[in-house]
Amino acid sequence: MNGEPSAPSVAEAPLLDYAAMCDAVAATTKRNEKIQIVAAYLRGVPDDVLPAAASFASGDATPPGSPSLRLGGRLAIDAARAVFEIDDPSLRDAYSRHGDLGNALADLASHARRPSLFAAPLTIGRVASTFREIATAVGGGANKKRTSLFASLLSDATPAEVRYLVKLATGDMRIGLKLALTVDALAVAYGADAADVRRALMAIGDVGAVAGLARAGRLEKAGVAYGKPIGFMLASPLRFGGDYKELEPGEYLLEDKFDGIRIQAHCDDGSVKLFSRRLNEVSRSYPEVVGALAAPGVPHAIVDGELLAFKDGRALPFQHLQGRLQRKVVDASHIEDVPLALVVFDILAERDDLLFDRPLGERRARLEGWVESLPASARSNLLLAVATFVTLRGDAQERAQLLEPAFDAARARGNEGLMIKALGSTYAPGRRGKQWFKLKKELATLDCVVVAVEYGHGKRNDVLSDYTFAVRAGDRLVTIGKAYSGLTDAEIATMTRWFLDHRLVDEGRRLVVEPTVVVEIAFDIIQRSSLHESGLAMRFPRVVRLRPDKGPGQASTLRDALALVAD
Ligand code: AMP
Repeated sequence: MNGEPSAPSVAEAPLLDYAAMCDAVAATTKRNEKIQIVAAYLRGVPDDVLPAAASFASGDATPPGSPSLRLGGRLAIDAARAVFEIDDPSLRDAYSRHGDLGNALADLASHARRPSLFAAPLTIGRVASTFREIATAVGGGANKKRTSLFASLLSDATPAEVRYLVKLATGDMRIGLKLALTVDALAVAYGADAADVRRALMAIGDVGAVAGLARAGRLEKAGVAYGKPIGFMLASPLRFGGDYKELEPGEYLLEDKFDGIRIQAHCDDGSVKLFSRRLNEVSRSYPEVVGALAAPGVPHAIVDGELLAFKDGRALPFQHLQGRLQRKVVDASHIEDVPLALVVFDILAERDDLLFDRPLGERRARLEGWVESLPASARSNLLLAVATFVTLRGDAQERAQLLEPAFDAARARGNEGLMIKALGSTYAPGRRGKQWFKLKKELATLDCVVVAVEYGHGKRNDVLSDYTFAVRAGDRLVTIGKAYSGLTDAEIATMTRWFLDHRLVDEGRRLVVEPTVVVEIAFDIIQRSSLHESGLAMRFPRVVRLRPDKGPGQASTLRDALALVAD
């Protein structure tokens, strides 16, 4: 050592800068200011850690398509306990004060006595590589290993860093940092067109890689990245029997709304990957679909569709599929009991052509061509969604005459309702836009996040059967109701084990749990009420089913609930 301060190595991007950026983002509600803050932060990050920093700035601990961190709140608490000596009452107090685990643990960390002498400052590079290690830990003792790896980060973290490490690791940022914001920030940081950043992101699916291209001025080089999931396009709800004025006059495609699980299939010359709506790879659960699409001669493509239990030419009710979802290992008997089919309705890429920014009409023609070119063996578990073209004019009665019989026909075929898609629309992932609509008839339901559970009574004395659930309000979750579970005994038993493993705060007969489980709730009406944080309450709420295909980020919003209020 010659006493000179050594030049910072390229990998040294302090986590403190990231935490300061997040605090600044949290401190403003103005989107534009958030964008400027993230842009300035990303500009200052060295090349080699820019991908990880961009991913963290989007709230993602690991890049999409790679193993996810799977570090729930429970393990984060265990890790924090190992470092900060937290007792139950103080955790309970902190959690109820903050309603957010990251903030609660940061608060506790700021009061904890701990040796800071040996703390090695955290860097983005170190956090990214520890997160990778946590994500890839497998086998017996994996949870222990994950907890101790996370504890190693917490023990070197300042309270602000604790806050964001926990938020990142549990996937619950709640400060308005989202992928869409990072996209705009990258455009600002590197003087690019936001549409070009978005297109590159859709193509390669990894904001970290896109950040590198944006910095190098090479966004146009983004080609089709098979094996990396693309965000799903969603539909806005439409009320059956209304005047359908949400639909602009024009040409539409009508398709059945299938009641299954949304799947994006990447077929890449025998290598097939299936992704769920949460962008997790789920190929292992559906070997027969993977097998069919891996047949020789299947042209390279990324297709979008719905996975159904399908027997004798008809879709089976969702419950059949649910049984399959809960299996860790799928063997031949399951495949025989519940045959699956992927009904495809869109195509996002074929060979080297990106198609998502082509109009739906053109994509539909490409999809039909793709399906026709499939070898017979691939057709065994694959169907093409039937589509009908209609032109909707201004007249409400004429619209009803076109849409309602089509809806009834879809129902008669055993499907849930009707999808109405603008023929000229491009494939726009993420937001519910005004391009795709879903027409359903039954009583309204909301997809809510379970935030607390209680033991039941009588024969349910030993199981966690009463759920308190919430909807999304911005970055927060606000409670909207409580219901006795309408799930089967087997489901309640499985969920009881899950909730016990994922409790955040233990209040005896009631547990505050990690807000990750989504349930579909039916009710008679929704009214204004001061009973719950949302300012709303439901009459006769009941749990219709678990929604393992949805994460908390895809749960219904307070606005969805308000739209259903009976005044
Ligand atoms: P929901 O789950 O009620 O928000 O409805 C949207 C879901 O409908 C999508 O995520 C798909 O899983 C599903 N869906 C069923 N059939 C179609 C279809 N033909 N086109 C698009 N989405 C469909």
